Amino acid sequence: MDIRFYNTLTNEIAPFEPLTPGQVKMYSCGPTVYDFAHVGNFRSFLFADLLRRFLEAAGFDVWHVMNITDVGHMTADEEADGSGEDKMQVAARRLKEDKKSGKVEDGAVADPDDPYQVADYFMQAFLEDGRQLGLKVASEFPKRVPKATEYIDEIQQMISTLIARKHAYVGSDGVVYYSVESFPNYGQLSGNTLDALRVGAGGRIDAADQGAKRHPADFMLWKADPKHIMKWDSPWGAGYPGWHIECSTMSMRVLETDVLDIHTGGEDLIFPHHECEIAQSCGATGKDLFARFWMHARFLLVEGEKMSKRKGNFFTVRDILAGKATGGPVHPAVLRMELIKSHYRAHTNFTAEGLSESANTVRRLTELGQRLHAECGGKPAQVDRDHPVVRAFLEALANDLKVSEAMTVVHAWMSSPGEDAAEAYGVLLALDQVLGVWELTGADEASEDPESEVVQKLCELIDEARQTKDFSAADAHRQRLIELGYEVRSSAEGTFAQKKLA
Ligand code: AMP
Ligand code: ZN
Repeated sequence: MDIRFYNTLTNEIAPFEPLTPGQVKMYSCGPTVYDFAHVGNFRSFLFADLLRRFLEAAGFDVWHVMNITDVGHMTADEEADGSGEDKMQVAARRLKEDKKSGKVEDGAVADPDDPYQVADYFMQAFLEDGRQLGLKVASEFPKRVPKATEYIDEIQQMISTLIARKHAYVGSDGVVYYSVESFPNYGQLSGNTLDALRVGAGGRIDAADQGAKRHPADFMLWKADPKHIMKWDSPWGAGYPGWHIECSTMSMRVLETDVLDIHTGGEDLIFPHHECEIAQSCGATGKDLFARFWMHARFLLVEGEKMSKRKGNFFTVRDILAGKATGGPVHPAVLRMELIKSHYRAHTNFTAEGLSESANTVRRLTELGQRLHAECGGKPAQVDRDHPVVRAFLEALANDLKVSEAMTVVHAWMSSPGEDAAEAYGVLLALDQVLGVWELTGADEASEDPESEVVQKLCELIDEARQTKDFSAADAHRQRLIELGYEVRSSAEGTFAQKKLA
């Protein structure tokens, strides 16, 4: 299969082949665990998940690493560098000040002054959201989900290497900085030039910072700070690492390589975060390349604007699933579908209409799945990637992850899935390896699920009550099913209940 992806590094779509045949090593910048993740964050995470699942379905052994940033991501990191306040500090203060908000259950974080507890609370929340939305790495935690605070020794070793190789220095303020002038390729990913950055292009580099640095774009690797909420001893004083060095270290360590096949993140990470990662990693290894493919998800928008914490125009995953934004609960499979269905390089608005379209797709797939599952007794035929439907689906994705074209294949197939239920069920499972939607409805485990026995029994009771015209009993049983989150339909064929999707 010819796989082609858009590479931010070269600004073109190019054939993708991993360095080691059959094996792909990919790293995705994960969440900063200072708050609940919003659905914009999850667009980036699920884009990476879709990419990973596609590569797996195409036959690769994929090592997918997604880190947890639990120290060193400063509030001003997006504009400048090393200034601002640690986001974990912001979280600790907010939790303390805002005990009554009800956003965080009472007593969930026993001591909001302890940043480790705060980080752990939001990390668990991220993992839970991730598992609900079928983010595979979240189910594999702790494998390949490194936390920055657990890699401090390795980070310090990398900083020492950078100092030894003259890529880093201790500034007059005692902070260890990376010297951008020591790395001629600085700017290759984002298109920035050192001259433009010197004059503070677009105000991104704060001239006031320059004092202790050799160049205004030099960025922090280690900051000694006795007052910081999380700190470790180091040759440069007790302090904490910069956000960029964390990702350079964790990616190479956990993936056990100097050169990654793919590095992903949201588009806002191209500069400075990923530009700095390249400078650090290539500076330390002496290699020309750090990641061979850089792939970035465009923003999820709300009414044309980036969804972000700062703007306050965001919905957390929890808000959406609980129906706070749409007036009714949304099934996780529907939210997943909504976040993966548009092309990762297109800006997409998050809307109620979009969600309801996704709910229709998921409902169609689920109803078909339930029918096929029943008809083949839950025993699918073996279907591999050479099956024409699966092949067409994967080929659409091989073309820079064109999900909408892949979904066209899925919709066409759903309209006429063929006579052989076992084969069709096998196709559905093969497609769902990538889509990850049917697996979230839990419908394929229906026969083993204790809840399903209750549901089955209630449907039978409704049918018996209807036969004896005991309508109040039928209504009571129906009400019980609705309370359990089911949609109930009775017809001449009998009563059927299906878990509500949205
Ligand atoms: P953070 O937790 O702030 O470090 O962000 C985690 C990930 O979410 C990063 O890859 C960001 O680029 C990404 N991100 C943040 N906002 C959005 C958005 N509105 N749409 C898509 N990705 C986003
Ligand atoms: Zn990162």
